[in-house]
Amino acid sequence: MSSKEQLYKELYTKARVISNGINVKPGIFKNIALGSEYMEQVHGLAESDRHTHVGVDFPCHFTSPSGIVYNFVWDLRSPITIEYRDGNYYLFDTGKELFPITFAKRPHYYGLKTSDGVEMSHIANFTPGNTVRAAYSNECSLKDKGLDCLFCNANVTKDTYAEKEDIKWKTPKQIAETVAAAYKYDGSRHIQITGGFIPERREVEYYLDVAEAIQEHLGKKDFDGNACVGAPQDISIIEKYKEAGYRTIAINIEFWDKNFFKTICPGKEQECGGFDHWVEALEYSASVFGYGNAGTNFVAGIEPKEKTLEGIEYLASKGVVATAGAFNPNAGSKLEGHRSPWEEWNIDLAQKAYRIYKNAGFTFDNLYYVAPADNTLIHDVFKIEEGLL
Ligand code: SF4
Repeated sequence: MSSKEQLYKELYTKARVISNGINVKPGIFKNIALGSEYMEQVHGLAESDRHTHVGVDFPCHFTSPSGIVYNFVWDLRSPITIEYRDGNYYLFDTGKELFPITFAKRPHYYGLKTSDGVEMSHIANFTPGNTVRAAYSNECSLKDKGLDCLFCNANVTKDTYAEKEDIKWKTPKQIAETVAAAYKYDGSRHIQITGGFIPERREVEYYLDVAEAIQEHLGKKDFDGNACVGAPQDISIIEKYKEAGYRTIAINIEFWDKNFFKTICPGKEQECGGFDHWVEALEYSASVFGYGNAGTNFVAGIEPKEKTLEGIEYLASKGVVATAGAFNPNAGSKLEGHRSPWEEWNIDLAQKAYRIYKNAGFTFDNLYYVAPADNTLIHDVFKIEEGLL
């Protein structure tokens, strides 16, 4: 078992991977059976890689010997590489070998089909922490008005991959069957329903139908579901998600500086009543779902760190768990070619966020059930501090 000091040392490596991505030649993965034994990327919503790779399979994530889980993000400019030797893969930083790595195995449900013949791997992604993440739509209607969030490439991802990978909108039944399979075969215990904005903001009806279908398939009311939605104009609608059986809700505000919010998320500003309304929706969510059962996310590293921390602290005081994943300049977004913050910046933010959570009384489970995966740096700090690795 690794000591706390060793784990923090490794976290620095992970923060470098997050910041720089990983530089490999695609052929490096020919030795693992991606798409049969090992889990391949499926482009259900927003691509994380920094270059597109149509027709070339990449892995989703990998684990180090200490149990820390890394996302695979492709960036040909990175000093971090993966090399294959004697049947094993190793992580290298600037030419120096660090440790062997193990790629994530494909979950059983990826090999199954829904009753109408669609591959379940195309319905919902399996993410670190055994979470099922279903993006009901693979596009965002903000595109029609030219109001996409500047860091987001959801619509570009659809244009690049949807036809080739046969990714479409999902029906509630398809999602329910996939969740039931993941819960049955793959030890999954948490589902997040997400997606881009639907024209005229009609997502609530869809989320209610999905909840009902999942409950029917699982045979229970509480299906450990998280509804990730945009702030509704009428905040009383939030009660409907709770009544439908979602355990938690996430409304991603992305920035705490009002001007950054307005500039980087013009659609969220114009279509959802503006920044103050978004904050009001979050506070109301915590009152409806309960302390620690409402969440949001910040895109960390575009606005000043102090501002993001101010937001995390303010929202924690209201019972809202705010995650802060590092900004990833993915392929095709308006911020492609920008830089993610340096590793020290990201680790400092994660450690400070963890302390805010602890002061607020949030548990790891609070964080787990509002997030789409459990391997952000804040999750890692939580795991290291509380012996969860
Ligand atoms: S609301 Fe913004 S972040 Fe969400 S899918 Fe649309 S463009 Fe992307």
